[in-house]
Amino acid sequence: MNEAKLKFYKSLGLKLTPQRLAILEYLENNRSHPSAEDIYNALKPHFPSMSFATVYNTLEVLVEKGLVKEINIESNKKRFDAFTHPHHHFFCKGCKKIIDIENNQNITIPKELKDYELTEFQVIFYGFCPECKNKRGKR
Ligand SMILES: [Zn+2]
Ligand SMILES: [Zn+2]
Repeated sequence: MNEAKLKFYKSLGLKLTPQRLAILEYLENNRSHPSAEDIYNALKPHFPSMSFATVYNTLEVLVEKGLVKEINIESNKKRFDAFTHPHHHFFCKGCKKIIDIENNQNITIPKELKDYELTEFQVIFYGFCPECKNKRGKR
């Protein structure tokens, strides 16, 4: 992680423990929108003393600081996204993968909202990815 980034995190009043940095770095290098469990399982070998609560609490702090976004697509499992630029998602109902949709051009704001001030919006497309679609076709 580079100096400028570290400085930026410190400027947010974020205490940077090695575990927190590892969680942040994992999220930044991983666009699969992992859950807290995924992050815990991936980092546990490197930080044997790290508890699941630490991961969970760190994620809460990162969300609060605006460094990470929470995605509530699966009802029983929060997923996390360090790519905070506005974008949309596709959720595969087969393998539960979430992919980023960065093309925001073709999404129309509903006319019911014309008098509202929109601060952000996120569209979630649901369906089956090509692999899952093929598997379904073969059943
Ligand atoms: Zn899939
Ligand atoms: Zn995303």
